[in-house]
Amino acid sequence: CGIFAYLNYCVPRTRKEIFELLVKGLMRLEYRGYDSAGVAVDSDKNIDNKQNIVLIKKKGKVKALDEELYKKDCMNLEAELSTHFGIAHTRWATHGEPNAVNSHPQRSDKNNEFVVVHNGIITNYKELKKYLNTKGYEFESETDTEVIPKLIKYVYDNREREDLSFSTLVERVITQLEGAFALVFKSCHFPGEAVATRRGSPLLIGVRSKHELSAEHIPIQYNSARINEAVHEKNSHNRPEDISTAVNFTGEGNGIEYYFASDASAIIEHTNKVIYLEDNDIAGVVNGKLSIHRLKHQAGEDPVRAIQTLQ
Ligand code: GLU
Repeated sequence: CGIFAYLNYCVPRTRKEIFELLVKGLMRLEYRGYDSAGVAVDSDKNIDNKQNIVLIKKKGKVKALDEELYKKDCMNLEAELSTHFGIAHTRWATHGEPNAVNSHPQRSDKNNEFVVVHNGIITNYKELKKYLNTKGYEFESETDTEVIPKLIKYVYDNREREDLSFSTLVERVITQLEGAFALVFKSCHFPGEAVATRRGSPLLIGVRSKHELSAEHIPIQYNSARINEAVHEKNSHNRPEDISTAVNFTGEGNGIEYYFASDASAIIEHTNKVIYLEDNDIAGVVNGKLSIHRLKHQAGEDPVRAIQTLQ
């Protein structure tokens, strides 16, 4: 129902500040109604040399989730995280009763390698679930959403020698999905990176930087003025299909921040520079740079056969 995510790149924030930002973002979306809430953030611990992602989920109000956040002992609240990506969600259940397991973020596996927040409904989830079951993936929730993190792990695990970017993994996943979705992904395999996409459910990205958004070597540059224009043009489909933002900064503790939300009301207090994603846009942040491209090809009607061709 409500998505909020926050990425700081070379902008030092304490974990406490990050929690507060995420919770405030969710509270701004409360008016839409929901039955449970959750977040995914990085802990202070590593698993197999990978940053360990922690999920905190709670049935009921965002307030209850907020209290839960401060109970985790593996997360030092004063720790300063110069680059971090946190994702948050308020769920209005469509598949599976409201409880902590069914709430989002949903995850790929017990190590939380891939986690995702989802607004909408995946109408072909049963076929995808059946297929993934045959591949040995076990499901823990009753949601339609859970096929998504499982599917991305499946593509990742079967990538063989291909060096797939986080955005490419997500692209391969969404070609298999039918229904409506706004999605934001986080992964321990891509620390400090974000991927967001949508089809039929709204999603926008706010950008904040003390520095001019600039770069001569990217195809199209959205400077502050053009991002503002994008807000006004949101219904006109004038936006170029592929865009990138980049920022020149000294690297001395001042970079760029991105806010992802299903609704502008959660972003507007942070920045008025926003980009509305359009259907089949895939937005990725790598090293603080945001790139958006539109999915060109849809896979065939048979999702399972299409998955097999992924390998
Ligand atoms: N269909 C998903 C679920 O029931 C997402 C619902 C929502 O948009 O909050 O978990």
